[in-house]
Amino acid sequence: MAGALSSSCIFCQITRASTPATILHQDDKVVAFQDINPSALKHYLVIPVEHIPTVKQLRRRAEDFALVSNMLDVGRALLERDAPHAEQYRFGFHQPPFNSVNHLHLHCFALPYMPRWRAMKYLSLGPFVGFIEAEKLLERIKPASSL
Ligand SMILES: [Zn+2]
Ligand SMILES: [Zn+2]
Repeated sequence: MAGALSSSCIFCQITRASTPATILHQDDKVVAFQDINPSALKHYLVIPVEHIPTVKQLRRRAEDFALVSNMLDVGRALLERDAPHAEQYRFGFHQPPFNSVNHLHLHCFALPYMPRWRAMKYLSLGPFVGFIEAEKLLERIKPASSL
């Protein structure tokens, strides 16, 4: 389902550190960095090293569930470290066609949104449209065997 590294993909370039980005976390599965155009008090992105285009490629299976869980854990730990007094945390994904970059990325927010109208970019417009909360996506791809 997922390809190898894509040379034209900006996020694949970040995973190979050939692009200037402030890397906040890196391991063999995921990389985290600051959104270059932040929409909140803190706004981080967590991406898989593997080139997975969008949430539509994720399936109800253990490896996809583990990957998204791991992305969420990394994002939450970074926000708790860097913004311990935030109003609220929020984690989620844009669903195509509303995703900006075709490499799966978890948006991690320490709220408030800054400026406030930026919240508009992250509205959920129904289960398969707009922004999806990470917890909702995890429910969708949770393997049947672990229910
Ligand atoms: Zn990529
Ligand atoms: Zn996005």
